[in-house]
Amino acid sequence: MRYLLLATALLTTPAFAASGNDAWHAKARELFEHAVEIPTVAGRGRVPELAQYLAEQYKAAGWAADDIHVMPYEGNAGDKTAALIVRWPAAGTAKAKPIMLMAHMDVVEAKAEDWSLDPFTLTEKDGYYYGRGTSDDKMGVVSVTTALLQLKAKGFKPKRDIIVFFTGDEETSGHGAQLGATQWKSMLDAEYGLNADGGGGSFAHGNRPLGFTFQTAEKTYADYAFTTHNAGGHSSKPRPDNAIYELSTALTQLGQYRFEPALNATTRAYFEARQKSESGALGDAMRAWLKNPADGAAADAIEADAGEVGLTRTRCVATMLTGGHAPNALPQMARATVNCRILPGVSPDAIRDELQKIAGDKVEVTRLDDAAASLDSPLRPDVLQAYTRSVHARFPTSPVIPEMSTGASDARPFRVAGIPVYGVDGSWGIVPDDMRAHGRDERLPVKALSDDVDHWVRMLSELAD
Ligand SMILES: [Zn+2]
Repeated sequence: MRYLLLATALLTTPAFAASGNDAWHAKARELFEHAVEIPTVAGRGRVPELAQYLAEQYKAAGWAADDIHVMPYEGNAGDKTAALIVRWPAAGTAKAKPIMLMAHMDVVEAKAEDWSLDPFTLTEKDGYYYGRGTSDDKMGVVSVTTALLQLKAKGFKPKRDIIVFFTGDEETSGHGAQLGATQWKSMLDAEYGLNADGGGGSFAHGNRPLGFTFQTAEKTYADYAFTTHNAGGHSSKPRPDNAIYELSTALTQLGQYRFEPALNATTRAYFEARQKSESGALGDAMRAWLKNPADGAAADAIEADAGEVGLTRTRCVATMLTGGHAPNALPQMARATVNCRILPGVSPDAIRDELQKIAGDKVEVTRLDDAAASLDSPLRPDVLQAYTRSVHARFPTSPVIPEMSTGASDARPFRVAGIPVYGVDGSWGIVPDDMRAHGRDERLPVKALSDDVDHWVRMLSELAD
């Protein structure tokens, strides 16, 4: 679930009405309890067990064994993990290429002593489910699965293949998604992917809807090293040049530098929607920037707002530092790690060249990874409409807002491989209280899980029909 941070609240109260789908909501709860109680943390080797459990659910619901594949692979540092691929073939000749449904089964580590409850026991309390993965992303795994079981049970006949793709290392190495977009691509050759691990809804206190986001783009994650070398010597005889001073000069220049702001289709749609609820200085900056994307001062004013950081341009920041070898020696080397979040479509090599210019000729800038440029997915009207209709069926007044995420998920390698991916999570939370993914006492409103099941049933009934 991704939460949207909006300063201004919008109108009305959402209809938290019962939907009359209690048997399937109970099924979702049963799957959720089991999923949360398997600690699928990197290094513990338990993801294959969850993949197997889910595979059995599909089998028991009538899927052919040939259409269910538990795919073992190595995650972070050789960790044994697995992906799950399940195909629901179209009834008759498929009217279009498949739709892929994505989520991840692994979770971030959680230590019992840091939590007020056991992170790997599903606890229901005060209208919430507590446990690691309740919001990121076992809710996605369970909602997608329950929706498919329900559609199958009620006799739905998809007119195109639906393919489930659940990975087992999204939170660490992302190898599963890499494999999916390369080695396993023939099994996952979809027209587009729908990702349960992106998008989602936010409410302010008092149930005021802040909006559901529709994620179509992510920035590219790339790390760089800034390195300086020096002949060194005895510190009682300082030289005119110094590795640490040269590095710190380069970092100061980086800190003051602003990359060129740029709008893409997603961020344009996002700011068009956002400015409607912003009447003050922030709204003025948004309107000025939409009119003139080269207006750096307007982009700066937007970036100064905590909820909008990173949305107007590539951002790079120093994150780690090392240098010198003794307190009484002139440093022979100093190095900083610089982490960049690059706008989609911009090559990490081009950013390296730009960083080299900023750093000057005393500092060598090198890449620390080989990330390819992420691409944004076109705003497909059919998918956006299905998402919007499903959101409005439950929350008629909630805005639906296209979103570029500043983080990275399993969507990236597919977008790079030419398969567009849309983050279309249907669950929601209260901002900021429920923003606990990766953190302590992670939780999900009980109603949000049931809503998410209904959401996937509704969207797939429309898109696969
Ligand atoms: Zn996630």
